[in-house]
Amino acid sequence: MIPMVDLKGQYLDIKDEIDQGLLQALEATQFILGPNVRAFEEEAAGYLGASHAVGCASGTDALHLALIAAGVGEGDEVITTPFTFIATAEAILYVGAKPVYVDIDEKSMNIDVNQIEDAITPKTRAILPVHLFGQPADMAVIQSIADKHNLVVVEDCAQSFGADIDGKQTGSMGIAGCFSFFPSKNLGCFGDGGLITTNDEKIAEHLRVLRNHGSWQRYHHSELGFNSRLDELQAVILRAKLKRIDQYNEGRRRVAHRYSAALAEMDGTTPPHEDGIGTHVYHQYTLLSAKRDQIMAALQAQQIACAVYYPIPLHQQEVFAEMCQGVSLPVTEKVASQCMSLPVYPELEDDKVDQILEVIRGAL
Ligand SMILES: *Cc1c(COP(=O)(O)O)cnc(C)c1O
Repeated sequence: MIPMVDLKGQYLDIKDEIDQGLLQALEATQFILGPNVRAFEEEAAGYLGASHAVGCASGTDALHLALIAAGVGEGDEVITTPFTFIATAEAILYVGAKPVYVDIDEKSMNIDVNQIEDAITPKTRAILPVHLFGQPADMAVIQSIADKHNLVVVEDCAQSFGADIDGKQTGSMGIAGCFSFFPSKNLGCFGDGGLITTNDEKIAEHLRVLRNHGSWQRYHHSELGFNSRLDELQAVILRAKLKRIDQYNEGRRRVAHRYSAALAEMDGTTPPHEDGIGTHVYHQYTLLSAKRDQIMAALQAQQIACAVYYPIPLHQQEVFAEMCQGVSLPVTEKVASQCMSLPVYPELEDDKVDQILEVIRGAL
């Protein structure tokens, strides 16, 4: 049996360090905004090349708080991709803004930067690109459009920890970068967790207030805030894994490149493109095939996990039935009908990858 991710293997590999760190944190009993959270924020900011990093309770909260701090609110429009996890759009709705979906580029599966300007209206306030599956979105073009139209860019980096464009990490380019440490993400903790990066000191300060009940000093509440802090115990785990993130991402790339080299030789599948924009860190390995259903059935019959991320684009979700009435985004709809993801994790051995490829070959 081959799963989509092997969280246990990754834990066992660094068990001593994690267990020790957790025991120390238990003894120290500084459970809220304790020393490990502060240390992790500093270490993550250093790794990501951002001036500030602010921990919070989840990737969803990271997006929510970042949009507030970026000044996005009631009546604003936020341009984003319809081909992402629902949380991207939830955060936009939480601040009272409206997601405006722009179709995707079939190769990168990220927002089609050539269609962004057509979607800008006087109400547009922000662009929210997602570095989907670990493939960086075209930030140079996105930022230049934003600058031209006086918009802010908030990056959804939930799937892209460690991905960079010409040495610049995702999350260090927009006004804020939003990360998730959901267990299955490239950098994952043992529960929920999130992080916001920014190079703007005022925004960083605002985020620290927002995540802590709108409080800059105990029992002084300057605005409506939230209880959204990164947990001290999760920070212990994240510190141990952050040290190894390059090695983890390298492992994912090894698996991905082995898949892609073999799939390129098979008719009937299109492997994911590394389109020259930055380094893909393969949070997911997602291919396209008109024969998706038969490939998936064959894999499942051999106890090999596979999944469809995402079968229903956001503009076709029931929650957006009214807001997106009549919206048609043909590339997204085609990709959603043909995409499927294969197991990809650093611990996946080459012979298992070959075994998966054999099953796919047989199914085509
Ligand atoms: C996982 C994910 C989120 C939300 O992160 P949580 O930590 O689960 O709240 C947001 N956006 C994208 C693209 C994601 O994959």
